[in-house]
Amino acid sequence: MSQVGHLEAGSRHDLRVGLSPDAPDEEDLRDDEGAFGYAHSYESSSRYDGPGVRVVLFLSGCLLRCNYCHNPDTWHLKDGTRVSVQQVLGRLKAFAPALRSLDGGLTISGGEAMVQMEFSRRIFAGAKAMGLHTAIETSGYLGDRVDDRYLSALDLVLLDIKSSDPETYKRVTGRDLAPTLRFAERLAKMGKPTWVRFTLVPGETDDPANVDGIARFVAPMKNVQWVEVQPFHQMGAFKWKAMNIEYKLNDTPSAPPALTKRVIEQFRAAGCNAR
Ligand code: SF4
Repeated sequence: MSQVGHLEAGSRHDLRVGLSPDAPDEEDLRDDEGAFGYAHSYESSSRYDGPGVRVVLFLSGCLLRCNYCHNPDTWHLKDGTRVSVQQVLGRLKAFAPALRSLDGGLTISGGEAMVQMEFSRRIFAGAKAMGLHTAIETSGYLGDRVDDRYLSALDLVLLDIKSSDPETYKRVTGRDLAPTLRFAERLAKMGKPTWVRFTLVPGETDDPANVDGIARFVAPMKNVQWVEVQPFHQMGAFKWKAMNIEYKLNDTPSAPPALTKRVIEQFRAAGCNAR
């Protein structure tokens, strides 16, 4: 078992690899108690990952393999640092007064927080005990894994819907679309505040029919407060090279403003609050 390390402040753009070489495979993890987990890093003042100013904790472990992923160093638990819940909450506590006064809170992102379900559950519970607003950023792929009690500790879900077309979803992420749509419908049924996020990748996800499919799926959902279009960029490309993983989007341009505008307008035309 890896030794407990230090939870590092930093940025999602930092490359972190090989920090817990004997960590389990993310496919096999069963964090029964969740007293310890694996984390990439945290940012202490994000304005992009939920309302107000946020601490964003990037957990390790993801079962998807998005071909445009900006953070492949969060895919494997072995690349993260083993930390304790107490360590995470101790760090969060120092920021709690500022977060409360700036109408912010805690967002757990990744990677995929639901890979470490019990670990993230404990952190969310601790954040709620500090009176903090809580949010998760998730692909929803493991949505069936979490119970309603897990969701009750969340004030907001940032749900990444990467495509509306099963074939495109599979090609882009390596996994099935259905669990994400099922999770979105569950959130809608329970009225859980949700922001849908869509990564706009030229030549991969920008097909008008693909965008329309997501827009028509999301538009009737009254719990969806925002659809956020996130233009693809190449800032994560260096990680693929450093990790020696084949990167297929070398020649893909960043999503230009005109394309982003078209897609936002498509969502708005379907009746979504989009930005
Ligand atoms: S779900 Fe997120 S972390 Fe996982 S591969 Fe896709 S973009 Fe990367």
